Amino acid sequence: MNIRFSKISLLCAGLLAITTLGSHAADHAAKATDQHGSHGAKHWSYSGEGAPANWGNLEPGFSLCRLGKQQSPVDIQGQGSGKPAPIEFAYTASSAEVVNNGHTVQINLPSAGGFRLDGTEFKLAQFHFHTPSEEKIRGVAYPMVAHLVHKSAAGNLAVVAVLFELGDENQALKELFAKLPANGQTAHLSNAFNVSDLLPAYKGYYKFMGSLTTPPCTENVQWQILKQRVEISKEQLEAFRKLYKMNARPVQPLNQRKVEES
Ligand SMILES: [Zn+2]
Repeated sequence: MNIRFSKISLLCAGLLAITTLGSHAADHAAKATDQHGSHGAKHWSYSGEGAPANWGNLEPGFSLCRLGKQQSPVDIQGQGSGKPAPIEFAYTASSAEVVNNGHTVQINLPSAGGFRLDGTEFKLAQFHFHTPSEEKIRGVAYPMVAHLVHKSAAGNLAVVAVLFELGDENQALKELFAKLPANGQTAHLSNAFNVSDLLPAYKGYYKFMGSLTTPPCTENVQWQILKQRVEISKEQLEAFRKLYKMNARPVQPLNQRKVEES
């Protein structure tokens, strides 16, 4: 189980570590792991030769990172056309496996519920962190963001982003951030985790179509960025930054996309 998770997540920083994504992703992951392991081939990262500007050239399967027109993250300028329906959150407490996959810390939750939007149910698979926040609001990045990654029965991906700002210790993340595993390691939370404890009180959000923010930068991902920030302490942020000083892809052109705002 751990080997399987680490293989997949080595490639995909968690966004693709949804075990049901299919054989393409699995082949891809195996191939990248082989290259990485046996030949020291360039692997994607956030600096140096594997930096985001080069992702699209690292291998043919990553070309969308370079050529895609609906890439994430974006800088939301408050374009606000249209008004999306409220997100109906229905998270449940779940056991939680915490994996440091070399690109981020990812929490896998086997039975965490999900949300419903526009008649579609999305089931949560995992969440993970980036620092600073990948998405910007009117040019401003926040110290950290959590990406809650969901999948519908039809196989469509939807990410809910929760932005963090410095303040009080985040109680929902207390146990998790006290036992962040080292690179390649896995930990298990002793308490059940309910993702609803991570959400801000106000659920207004920005909605747009985008992509995975890590190779292979797959598009048709539905994004929901919650407007209200939640707090983490300086110590919690530092605990994550000890592992990942910077793991954020730069913002991408919005092109013709519209951003809805509730
Ligand atoms: Zn992410």
